[in-house]
Amino acid sequence: MTDTVIFDRVTFIGIGLIGSSLARVIKREGLANHITVTTRRQETLDKAIELGLCDAGTLDMAEAVKDADLVMVCTPMGAYAGIAEQIAGSLKPGTVISDVGSVKAPVFETLGPALPNHVHLVPGHPIAGTEHSGPESGFPELFKGLWTVLTPAKDVDADATARVKELWERSGALVEIMDAKHHDQVLAITSHLPHLIAYTIVGTANELGDDLQKEVIKFSASGFRDFTRIAASDPTMWRDIFLTNRDAVLEILGRFDEDLTELKRAIRRGDGDTMFDHFTRTRAIRRGVIDAGQQIPPAPANDTK
Ligand code: NAP
Repeated sequence: MTDTVIFDRVTFIGIGLIGSSLARVIKREGLANHITVTTRRQETLDKAIELGLCDAGTLDMAEAVKDADLVMVCTPMGAYAGIAEQIAGSLKPGTVISDVGSVKAPVFETLGPALPNHVHLVPGHPIAGTEHSGPESGFPELFKGLWTVLTPAKDVDADATARVKELWERSGALVEIMDAKHHDQVLAITSHLPHLIAYTIVGTANELGDDLQKEVIKFSASGFRDFTRIAASDPTMWRDIFLTNRDAVLEILGRFDEDLTELKRAIRRGDGDTMFDHFTRTRAIRRGVIDAGQQIPPAPANDTK
């Protein structure tokens, strides 16, 4: 690994929690000479400029990418097809296109088809995040020690993949190259199902009568509070995740249903041994997660304005 710049000019399309965290670390580590940002709303662009996240900004997406060596798409995935259409005609030969979307196989159907043959598509997913959104919520340590998965097609330019890998590694991430479909199956269980459960539990609590609802909030430290944090995640992003990773999520939900039925049966029958065995196995998994160091670092207070 060197201390040189990896890409001369980087363009961010979208600059929320993930984009702004990456822009911050690129600036701090000197991984690019120039950062351009393009957003949908003027307000977000003004914020990005005020926070010093870029050297130039524009609402014109085609203009923003025309000199870019790396285009990093950091928007909800539902916007990808429209973005590809808008930028396709302005990309110079050799530009690397990457993204941070949470589901990977659909990128080849949404972002991929409209792009010209002379660019290199290297999709990625930093497995790091918080429930906050927008450019002010990012912080440069977000990716430190956590995995970023890259899912390039087999025939993509090896140098393009190597440079995106180096960008993430020098941003503090651990990088794994994986097949896109496999990534989506893994994330269905580690991320998408837990979010669906959190959205469901918090929704169920919301349907309770007024008195009971007050008590739920008062005694939330007993477990409910952690679910409310997850269920506060961005609705647009999570809608797009369930729309794009439908098959893998439905497959894992089927298995979850079976296991839930088994635990329901154990409760109904007063079968304490089954429950104890189950909870003992799951406790060991928690220890494994802690040993692997895969916990999100807290945002530093001065970076979460
Ligand atoms: P965010 O904070 O809500 O920021 C989204 C950005 O995308 C904003 O700059 C927004 O610009 C722009 N945008 C939204 N809709 C757009 C559209 N239709 N066209 C163009 N730009 C649009 O989102 P985020 O949390 O950074 O997530 C971005 C991506 O990262 C998502 O694909 C998500 O799956 C992935 N991801 C998120 C997390 C996480 O924990 N949050 C973790 C890993 C990966 P305006 O404000 O101008 O609309």
